[in-house]
Amino acid sequence: MSKKLLLKDAHIEGIRYFETYRKQGGYTAAEKALKMTPEEILEEVKASGLRGRGGAGFPTGMKWSFLAKPEGVPRHLVVNADESEPGTFKDRYLMEFLPHLLIEGMLISSYCLGSNVSYIYIRGEYSWIPDILEEAIEEAKAAGFLGKNILGTGFDCEIYVQRGGGAYICGEETALLESLEGKRGNPRLKPPFPAVKGLWERPTVVNNVESIAAVVPIIDITGAEYAKIGVGRSTGTKLISACGNINKPGVYEIDMTITVEEFIYSEEYCGGIKDGKRLKACIPGGSSVPIVPANLLLRTVNGEPRYMNYESLADGGFATGTMMGSGGFIVLDEDQCIVDHTMTLARFYNHESCGQCTPCREGTGWMYKILKKIEKGEGKMEDIDLLWDIQRKIEGNTICPLGDAAAWPVAAAIRHFRDEFEWHIKNPELSQTQNYGLANY
Ligand code: SF4
Repeated sequence: MSKKLLLKDAHIEGIRYFETYRKQGGYTAAEKALKMTPEEILEEVKASGLRGRGGAGFPTGMKWSFLAKPEGVPRHLVVNADESEPGTFKDRYLMEFLPHLLIEGMLISSYCLGSNVSYIYIRGEYSWIPDILEEAIEEAKAAGFLGKNILGTGFDCEIYVQRGGGAYICGEETALLESLEGKRGNPRLKPPFPAVKGLWERPTVVNNVESIAAVVPIIDITGAEYAKIGVGRSTGTKLISACGNINKPGVYEIDMTITVEEFIYSEEYCGGIKDGKRLKACIPGGSSVPIVPANLLLRTVNGEPRYMNYESLADGGFATGTMMGSGGFIVLDEDQCIVDHTMTLARFYNHESCGQCTPCREGTGWMYKILKKIEKGEGKMEDIDLLWDIQRKIEGNTICPLGDAAAWPVAAAIRHFRDEFEWHIKNPELSQTQNYGLANY
């Protein structure tokens, strides 16, 4: 059984309210942190080995240490709660059921970073959650954990919740900052990075909800103890939102030492494939990361078990591995059509492209049109190579990672399931009524 740090109290009735959260030991990490210096907190976060839980997996302590500190210029912490990656819903769970864990993490992080005004930018579709967060903020303020001179330390901190308008691109940190400033959410060219010029050109740290919530147990048990959980550079625990053709979809906290096979088939987690069907493929880190067929998902090319952690999932690079990403674990059974699935994702990225760069704006549309043609049984063999060519011209040639996010699913689908694309082209009369299925592999 995995160790629980973030969700250990999630089952307790009323845990979303201050009184219950406090009774369970809530805000003791904040009390401890406020007696430390900001530098000491930063050292704990660095020692923990915590990696950003939004998708990129960049070390959080290192990110914080890049924050510029020009004299007299305010700094900001912005929590990225624009959880729009298809298949990912673990931050929603945290905010809905454990809002004080996020607020406490924000208080500690704001104190460490010197942010007196911090923000939560939340996706518009999570329409009921801002009220939960605002209620928690008011409760924390009434108890003296937010506002002026917190616990007599002289540190002031206000937290504001900003609702987004529902654009996927606003999950990209610079687009998020543009939107927070009241502008259209277009990603900015980097450099300058937000750590130097972020919100209103002030030094800003943008972190994912889960990353900031994880700061609470790090301070609680110390960074060194946190780093002992997990394996290698995959320290601590990770929230995984599991969905697709499984018996038990939901949000699970794992300690990154379990195998992918255990995660999919054990009763503690996904409970196996629905209706006793066979596993065809999985996208383990949200829709942007490469899809992996079952054989490479459960084992690496060397025959080693594949584990639910950053290194093992990526083992073999994009040719045979994938990524931990945001932890949005999408399972596909033997009846799922890879071409249809890839087309759905291509349509999504085409719709969500902000249109600033030509390869993304035009390329995502082309990929969608070609995939639609193949899926309808109207494709030609050369369309597969054309698709491959387009995705290669998008990857690495755009302002923000949405271009890569649109290219990778197409590349991985062709790499691992080319036969299925060819089957659709060779069997136009069956293309709409049957699936290639698993039997052909
Ligand atoms: Fe916009 Fe796409 Fe370019 Fe990102 S990659 S800036 S979403 S056009």
